[in-house]
Amino acid sequence: MPTRLLVATTNLKKLKELEDLLFDLPIQWLLLKDFPSVHDVDEDGKTFQENAEKKAFGYAKQTGCLTLAEDSGLVVDHLKGEPGVHSARFSGPGKDDLKNCRKVLELLTGAPKEKRKAAFHCAMGLAEPSRVIAVIEEHVDGFVAGEMKGTSGFGYDPLFFYPDFGKTFGEVPPKMKHSVSHRGKALRRMKEFLNEYLKVGG
Ligand code: IMP
Repeated sequence: MPTRLLVATTNLKKLKELEDLLFDLPIQWLLLKDFPSVHDVDEDGKTFQENAEKKAFGYAKQTGCLTLAEDSGLVVDHLKGEPGVHSARFSGPGKDDLKNCRKVLELLTGAPKEKRKAAFHCAMGLAEPSRVIAVIEEHVDGFVAGEMKGTSGFGYDPLFFYPDFGKTFGEVPPKMKHSVSHRGKALRRMKEFLNEYLKVGG
């Protein structure tokens, strides 16, 4: 029987990116909606890593399943690291991507290129019901563009200018984004870890 892996996210766009990269592992996928009585695990950590570990372990304990969880966000040095771990709700409780992008643009109004440096970070945690077994963190560097461009991806993608592409993540196809993104890099490493873990009968 294949190992069951709970992918603990309710963000459908993130889930799609995770599926794009992990689809060929010999595992049975489970989602949070398969466990209707599970309680939300608070994302109140100060770092992406803390939140990823907390979510993976919190859901693994509740469900008894091997669990993968991630925390990610945009870090702008000139904004003292904000939106950071507050990325999803930067403009208020509603998790509104457009409002979040507009708030970042407003805070950087008139800022020159050197003050627009930004990075996407992703921490990914893997836990068994009794312990966290892996945490991987990756990032990708870029700049906050002067305006939103493109409709691909989600969140801050239309704002995130990636110099090597000469475009924002919102302007490139998903595969191109995955090839360099914080989540793509973290997932490729996690996939290697999972392959080894499954081989030894985890
Ligand atoms: P959380 O990890 O569910 O707390 O949400 C992370 C938030 O960071 C998302 O809602 C987005 O606003 C932002 N974010 C994380 N990864 C990406 C990405 O790949 N592209 C654009 N925005 C992202």
